[in-house]
Amino acid sequence: MQLKTILNHVQKFKSFVYTKVRWAGSREVPALEVEVAARANGRALCSGCGTARPGYDRLAARRFEFVPLWGIQVFLVYAPRRVACPDCGVRVEHLPWASGKSHLTQAYAWFLARWARRLSWKEVAEVFRTSWDSVFRAVAMAVNWGRAHQELSGIQAIGIDEIAWQKGHNYLTLVYQIDSQCKRLLWVGEKRRVKTLLRFFRWFGNERSEALSYICSDMWKPYLKVIAKKAGQAVHVLDRFHIMAHFGKALDEVRAGEVKELKANGYEPILTKTRWLLLKRPENLTDKQDSTLAELLQYNLKSVRAYLLKEQFQLFWSYVSPYWAGRFLDQWCTQAMRSKIEPIKKVAKMLRRHRPLLLNWFRAKGQLSSGVVEGFNTKAKLTSRKSFGFRTFHGAEVALYHALGALPEPEFTHKFC
Ligand SMILES: [Zn+2]
Repeated sequence: MQLKTILNHVQKFKSFVYTKVRWAGSREVPALEVEVAARANGRALCSGCGTARPGYDRLAARRFEFVPLWGIQVFLVYAPRRVACPDCGVRVEHLPWASGKSHLTQAYAWFLARWARRLSWKEVAEVFRTSWDSVFRAVAMAVNWGRAHQELSGIQAIGIDEIAWQKGHNYLTLVYQIDSQCKRLLWVGEKRRVKTLLRFFRWFGNERSEALSYICSDMWKPYLKVIAKKAGQAVHVLDRFHIMAHFGKALDEVRAGEVKELKANGYEPILTKTRWLLLKRPENLTDKQDSTLAELLQYNLKSVRAYLLKEQFQLFWSYVSPYWAGRFLDQWCTQAMRSKIEPIKKVAKMLRRHRPLLLNWFRAKGQLSSGVVEGFNTKAKLTSRKSFGFRTFHGAEVALYHALGALPEPEFTHKFC
């Protein structure tokens, strides 16, 4: 069986044929070149309008990188024709295996993009002896295609989240669909301002925004403002994951302040190695950690009291009726305000300020799963750590959509991987 025959099995074009296959590599870099020619009766299509047009001239032969075989690089070689198009002028013909000026065939670009979901981009480039840049371009192509062809109807619930990006205080705003039947990343924006989220809603469109039933977000003010304005009909829920993250930060602050204080007064810094104990849920502690915590609890420390207040607040989420949850919230806030622990008082004030949105959690109960946004948050951070090419926003955006967007792919006659 000839290589040409195999190629015709996996990728056959109507107006082009494979003519010759030749060895074109060295021992170090083995490569095959497959010559492609237009069928004798086939007229060239204008790449501008896709219509068959009279020929103008022929350009020099170009190499298009194709899916490698047995560790051998494979190139399609073709000298493109130019057409004289009455509408578009003199144009290069449309080539069914490549798009625009790309030197990657579409088959190879999809092949790389698929692998880039399983391995880091750097690993993909190494394994297939191609450049990081080619992998990036392949992924960007897949993301572009997927975003242009994705289905956006019927979205009822979205979650808005942010992740820190680069060193310093740069943020990305991420919007997820969190419906039970479909969970995916919908949109990525730079920063976390009013403008950022407004851009999301502009992209999403008025009709779809007005059809939203649930929106989940943090207490971040710019988000609250935009959500109220753009999707006021939706039940806006402050989710458990974000609220508890505020407690985590407050506890850290209390502990750090107290360590300093204890040291200054000449006491043993009992709190230095206990950070994780105070942040962990009691059921997740090991036996040894459990006894350390018991010892710690004997001291009447602010950190301990803050910890207990946080643990007590967890009860809030177990309520079913918004009314009783509200009563609990009020009582808890009063107690927290009396604690004289500043970071905890700050949390209490914040919770009071957002009482209605907090109670919406109970109105939406059963409809929203609090784990979804948290799960995506973890994955998004992992993606940003894995792709070193995150220097630019565009790089970050492409990597996140590729990893979390659940984007569609075209139908292929043959899947190369
Ligand atoms: Zn044209």
